[in-house]
Amino acid sequence: MTQVVHTLDLKFQNRNDAIAAFLIPYSGGAVLVESGPGSTTEGLKAGLDEHGMKISDVTHVLLSHIHLDHAGAAGWLAQQGAEIYVHPRGAPHLINPERLIISATRIYQDKMHTLWGDFLAVPENQLHIPEDGEKFTIGDLEFTAYFTPGHAEHHIAYGFGNLVFTGDVAGVRMPGCDYVRLPLVPPELHLERWQASIELLLEKNFKRIAPTHFSIYDDAEKHLLDALKAAKTTSLWLEEIMPTNPGNDELGVEFTKWMSKEAEANNISEHDLKTYEIANPLHMSSTALARYWTKFRQPAT
Ligand SMILES: [Zn+2]
Repeated sequence: MTQVVHTLDLKFQNRNDAIAAFLIPYSGGAVLVESGPGSTTEGLKAGLDEHGMKISDVTHVLLSHIHLDHAGAAGWLAQQGAEIYVHPRGAPHLINPERLIISATRIYQDKMHTLWGDFLAVPENQLHIPEDGEKFTIGDLEFTAYFTPGHAEHHIAYGFGNLVFTGDVAGVRMPGCDYVRLPLVPPELHLERWQASIELLLEKNFKRIAPTHFSIYDDAEKHLLDALKAAKTTSLWLEEIMPTNPGNDELGVEFTKWMSKEAEANNISEHDLKTYEIANPLHMSSTALARYWTKFRQPAT
């Protein structure tokens, strides 16, 4: 397949390289992979404009999952005519985003709107809900939907020729860096399912990989192996620390220390580190890890 894929930098919080949407122009207009948040619609317009396209050219949006940084503008794009692809478990939240907005507001409080903008509903008749492994075409473009839980239960990676769009399941990696960090967020984090998802993508032998945070890389196998290693070491790290019964704060401090050490070992600059953290806020990781441990790993007493 020779279709060109462009990385659009949505300039989230005026920062380069934090959140991407991917643009694939085709005979019928444009396909976007990810909508970005509701707060970056201007960035999206500017990105499309650089390639001579407008919002009204966007016919389809493929969402990896419904977290605000990936799917927040989907309803807004649907309002202007786009059709939206989403995992069956994400669909109800797009049709009726009220609960999702309430729980996000609990986390972000008065920063909710500045950070994420509006999260509008998607009309049901504009939704496409693929099955696991389903191939589908948009014009002359062919995609395959791979259900890839772990970061979130309702996560899809999209195969497109030798490229795979990985949302958050292959972790976060900044341009110019070799370091892959996993975004560990509550409430659905599941490290074993995550490993299985990465292994599934490895089996497909993709050459190129497009994580939403951030860009397109030519070393899909190495990137996926790094992500797999990160999932495995996180599990081992938990096995060491959790039996000491750390409180949530202590777990957070220890985790942040561990991540800082890793970043240092990988020669990540302070600027890049800040972008890693904007794309993947560490303050949620301890909650996610503690919840995962209690729910799935703690031996019954
Ligand atoms: Zn996410």
